[in-house]
Amino acid sequence: MIIAIDGPSGSGKSTIAKELAEKFQFLYIDTGSMYRALTLGYLEEGTDLENEDARRRFLERMHVSFDTQNRVCLNGREVAEEIRGIEVTQTVSYVSAFADIRKKMVELQRKFAKENSVVMDGRDIGTTVFPEAEVKVFLIADVQERARRRWNQMKEKGMDITLEEVEAELRIRDEKDSNRKVSPLRKAEDAVEVDTTSLTVEEVIEKIGSIVQRRSLCTH
Ligand code: C5P
Repeated sequence: MIIAIDGPSGSGKSTIAKELAEKFQFLYIDTGSMYRALTLGYLEEGTDLENEDARRRFLERMHVSFDTQNRVCLNGREVAEEIRGIEVTQTVSYVSAFADIRKKMVELQRKFAKENSVVMDGRDIGTTVFPEAEVKVFLIADVQERARRRWNQMKEKGMDITLEEVEAELRIRDEKDSNRKVSPLRKAEDAVEVDTTSLTVEEVIEKIGSIVQRRSLCTH
């Protein structure tokens, strides 16, 4: 059973996906955290990703997994907080644009869903990872609202950044994610689009929950 949630940064994917996973007792997979973990590895090592051979060896060395509390790990080290830093955020769209890097992550994502019913969020879940997913949702929201949400999260973590900087970063990342050659961010034809700009989390969950129920997925 697969619920695919795609959309741009700050559209509410991870909040909604987590709640849905809890509601339906599915496993939640945050695919963005997988690309972020690889990006952390890249920043720590300083590998030349433009070089195909170096990139292949980099991928052989990097093992992304999740611990028992569903926190992302890189080579056995839990990195859930580290990957939220500004440097990783500014670099992840570069790293995630390489076809071979995406291929490895997509294989891993499909493997997770073989063993579990999942709610998976990302940019290409409904189009590439699981084109046959039972439920596909594409979340959108106004860019100012998305920036405000991200900024609030960052402030809570004590990060020193302005709302304008967050909005600029978000626009750049969406641009890169939407225009890359391999699996760009886009709505699958059969996905249901939900604009979360002025909806509460509960309202979004209710909307998607009813789609899930209509596809006759039951909690028990
Ligand atoms: O979801 P999050 O903002 O953490 O994703 C970080 C980045 O990872 C995105 O901006 C995008 O470059 C990449 N990503 C991707 N495909 C996914 C999930 C994330 O390319 N399925």
